[in-house]
Amino acid sequence: MNVADSELVETILEQEGFQATQNMESADAIFVNTCAIREHAEDKIHSRLGMYYKVKKNRPEVIIGVLGCMAQNLKDDLLESKPYIDVILGPDSYRKLPEIMSRNTKQNGHVVDTKLSRFEVYDDLFPSRKEGVNAWVSIMRGCDKFCTFCIVPFTRGRERSRSIESVKNEVVNAVAKGFVEVTLLGQNVNSYKHNNHNFHYLLEGIASIPRLKRIRYTSPHPQDITCDLLKVMADNPVICNSVHLPLQAGSNRILKRMNRTYSKEHFIGLAHEIRELLPGGGISTDIIVGFPGESEEDFQETLEVMERVQFDSAFTFKYSPRPYTKAEQYSGQVPEDIKQERLQRVIELQKTHTLDQNRKLIGTVEMVLVEKVSKKDPDFWAGRTDSNKWVIFPKENAKIKDIIPVSIADAKGISLHGEILTTSEVFV
Ligand code: SAH
Ligand code: SF4
Repeated sequence: MNVADSELVETILEQEGFQATQNMESADAIFVNTCAIREHAEDKIHSRLGMYYKVKKNRPEVIIGVLGCMAQNLKDDLLESKPYIDVILGPDSYRKLPEIMSRNTKQNGHVVDTKLSRFEVYDDLFPSRKEGVNAWVSIMRGCDKFCTFCIVPFTRGRERSRSIESVKNEVVNAVAKGFVEVTLLGQNVNSYKHNNHNFHYLLEGIASIPRLKRIRYTSPHPQDITCDLLKVMADNPVICNSVHLPLQAGSNRILKRMNRTYSKEHFIGLAHEIRELLPGGGISTDIIVGFPGESEEDFQETLEVMERVQFDSAFTFKYSPRPYTKAEQYSGQVPEDIKQERLQRVIELQKTHTLDQNRKLIGTVEMVLVEKVSKKDPDFWAGRTDSNKWVIFPKENAKIKDIIPVSIADAKGISLHGEILTTSEVFV
């Protein structure tokens, strides 16, 4: 989401005649787009701001700006502790940038705007994208779910969706620029609703766009995964058969305290339904360990759901108390050493599941979209399967953006290894 938002900011500034540079020393302004989801994300920004301060000391005329969720969350704190910051803009205030750039912040003091909007979706602005395989396309902003651990409803505000027409135009535009895959984005992507049209209707519309090879989406909420959505996915080969299904926790007591609105039984049923309707697909998840009040027994239930579902991959987090959220006030905060120990156990279990799931593919042929050169060896490509697994294979004649059949020979760590199947082999 932050990559997409930064591209939006780039468009706004380009329209004012500015140009992006990767060279901090020559920049007139330095903006950092921030995340507030966990304390760790904020820590990273604090140390990055230290680097910008050094630039500012040498060249006091440089404008330093903090954008996005952390600006929303920590404006007073930032103004007090880092007075060299000139601009603080929340995620709904990027349109203020032209006005800010045209005035002299030295004379006008700091510019702070963190007002959240009920309507802003930046519908008329297409993100500045140069070239690549995948384009991030934001389709909705904000979240109304208020999970008790989560800061998003406070930093990003209320849910609102872009029009289908505008999303479609943006995708057509991206395809014309050479992008072959799009990932539809939203804090709660499947809560999308515009003029009574919901997410599966939008997906179906995007699937009919010519020359688009793949569609992915993230991050959905299990509560809003419908039969219609799974059917549209099953019926349209261009929509990848991979679902991100964030579990968070396995115990019904903890799920309730988290305000996740589903039970462990519903979640397991949904996962089985996905496996049935999207055979060969992948299911990934998010898990939080050490939520306030989580006992060893509760935690065991998280491990149990992992065993039942056998996720293909997982993002795992230690609970991080966030300002404004209900859970921050909850009793039973779990000590750091227990959080760390549970995190380790979850990671170890997931490693075995990922390997087991990947090993099932050995001996099969997967259609892989060639995305980039492998980090480990310049003679190998790295690409993803429909089910969102990375595959490493010798380059041969394949080109980036091709979808090619790869015969899977091995599974190591989190990736698959194989070789391109030649056309003659395909037809044998
Ligand atoms: N909308 C998505 C999640 C978006 S946030 C959903 O509802 O599933 C991405 C992930 O960050 C969450 O799924 C959760 O696992 C994690 N997360 C959010 N707040 C957190 C917190 N306070 N501490 C630890 N992890 C958190
Ligand atoms: Fe946060 Fe996702 Fe819950 Fe919304 S649905 S509050 S983004 S975890």
